Amino acid sequence: MYGWMGKILYVNLTDSKIKVIDSKPYVEKYLGGRGVGLALYWENVKPETKAFDPENCLIFTVGPIVATRAQGATMTSVVGKSPATVPEGYCYGNLTGYIGPEFKKAGYDGLLVTGRSEYPVYLLIEDNRVEIKDASSMWGLNGYRTGELLEQAHGKNTRWIVIGAAGENLIKTALALATHDCTVSAGFGAVMGSKNLKAIAIRGSGKVEVANPKGLTSLNRYTFKISKRIRLTHAPHIEGTRYEKELEVIGKGGCYMCGLECVAGIYRYGKKYVGHRKCESVEYYLPWAYGKENEPIETLFYAPVKANDYGFDSWEMNSICDWLYDCYKAGALSKEEAGLPLSELGTGEFLDKLMDAIAHRKGIGKLLAEGLYRGSDQAPPKAKALLRRSVAPIGQNDIFSPRAYPIMALFYPLEPRVHHINYHDIAFVHIPWSHEQRQPGSTGVNNALIRRIAKEIWNSEAAADFSGYKGQAMAAKTIQNRTYIKESLGLCDWAYPVSYSFGTPDRFGDPELEAKLFTAITGVSSDVFEEIGERIYNLQRLILLREGRRTPEDDYPMPHNFTEPLESPTHTGILVPGPGDSVIDTRGRVLDREKYMAMLKEFYQLRGWDEETGLPLRDTLDKLGITGFSMDYVK
Ligand code: SF4
Repeated sequence: MYGWMGKILYVNLTDSKIKVIDSKPYVEKYLGGRGVGLALYWENVKPETKAFDPENCLIFTVGPIVATRAQGATMTSVVGKSPATVPEGYCYGNLTGYIGPEFKKAGYDGLLVTGRSEYPVYLLIEDNRVEIKDASSMWGLNGYRTGELLEQAHGKNTRWIVIGAAGENLIKTALALATHDCTVSAGFGAVMGSKNLKAIAIRGSGKVEVANPKGLTSLNRYTFKISKRIRLTHAPHIEGTRYEKELEVIGKGGCYMCGLECVAGIYRYGKKYVGHRKCESVEYYLPWAYGKENEPIETLFYAPVKANDYGFDSWEMNSICDWLYDCYKAGALSKEEAGLPLSELGTGEFLDKLMDAIAHRKGIGKLLAEGLYRGSDQAPPKAKALLRRSVAPIGQNDIFSPRAYPIMALFYPLEPRVHHINYHDIAFVHIPWSHEQRQPGSTGVNNALIRRIAKEIWNSEAAADFSGYKGQAMAAKTIQNRTYIKESLGLCDWAYPVSYSFGTPDRFGDPELEAKLFTAITGVSSDVFEEIGERIYNLQRLILLREGRRTPEDDYPMPHNFTEPLESPTHTGILVPGPGDSVIDTRGRVLDREKYMAMLKEFYQLRGWDEETGLPLRDTLDKLGITGFSMDYVK
């Protein structure tokens, strides 16, 4: 096989058994990455298994495009039962950077870890040599130090996935940290902790064979040209503050063999602090948001470093700090209840105390260790009432509100987590469109171009009216399937799809780029994408149903979307492209219940599900070749 390595590593930490299974039957049906991760989860994790049970599996899978020199091809999918979801259930996350390529170089399309060791261990993978090694001396160390020790022990080019205090102490939202400051959330750091698995260290010396190396070289040249778009530097909340001129992007994201520009980058803070930053981590802890105008730049710089080191999710920490600040201002938590000096919130010292309190379940940290969403049930009622709408079990809700973009009402509730990346297809077009509104000619992404994108990429021209309901079900289905294919190939979300481009005369991108790469690398036709995308999405649906999802009610968006008019944080409102060349200000909108219900029904029909209950029809599953689902699972 070209592109794939043909093997999946299976490690049981209870009995130390290690085996290799053939990946071919999985990749033929599910490609790789997220798709194969789902298939392995379906077969290996029973619905009644709890996240911290030894029987839970933590599954790392990589797609065929990873480590082939293709640009933006670094994604590792991580799948398992999450302690962070409410209730606990199937979930997923991603790692970019160097981990996926190293798995491939070591000869594997994936790794499944199950069981629980009696003492702390780490897994060492060096090509065919796989060992479970004692990690007792590392237990108690935070993430970066553990990574350093692994590099000292096994060589500078060793790639690692590690946990810090949050993972060791089973903090339900704990993340795992990997080489190159990459992280995976969903509480998978705590799942590693529950298995006494301190780290995974990987070194590979092989390479991935490519069907058409010359074709890939020319596609790489083409990718650089077509991928020219606005750079999504991520510091909107720092713009206009005194810190703005102290923060500078000085380098690209620099994942394995990727030369694309993206939201990840090397940032310089002030004169002396330099580090990798990704997405929101730059600004999850802004001192001035908590009334601390004169904090030194170090506080801003070290906040993401500390979160990674402990294993705290920065979205979660952002929600926690906002909530504590709201409680402080309203007097909803006494100093005794908090066990923390809330008046110091916004300082670096406070962040240290807060992380220590959560990691060791002290004071309010006991509640926060459950995750803010779940743990707030134990908070005093006055404090619980201050939870913001954005608080979610994983990530933050409502960032692109269904009230402004009805398509989001089909994305948010149907996924096991936020942030899911379906909405980036909309967001990454909306952002340049907003630039164009403010400064005509700056991006060229206008209503007409969005209509073309909607027609040719989302399969639904009507969906170009972001404010409407017509055509959104088809666009949602197409975007979901594309996203699942992208994650199964191992392609980075920041890079694909290329919907618009500054490298083409008409600014339309190339939605076929992923397919061209796939064929050049594997020699297989991309005609399989449609069916495989459908299969992956349906299998995820079955897993969620098997674990207790009730339909259709669990498919509805949060109730406030139907009743609370949308508020805008700025005086300019929340503008979206409307019909024709119009611009719609969505302030004050709510979701129209009747139109939403019709949209959901249409979505069910397009999926081949019962239009009333949302349950996949037997005929649909038969056509997709999915077996093993019993309606007895449905409550
Ligand atoms: S586009 Fe950015 S985040 Fe994605 S693989 Fe390339 S450098 Fe990494």
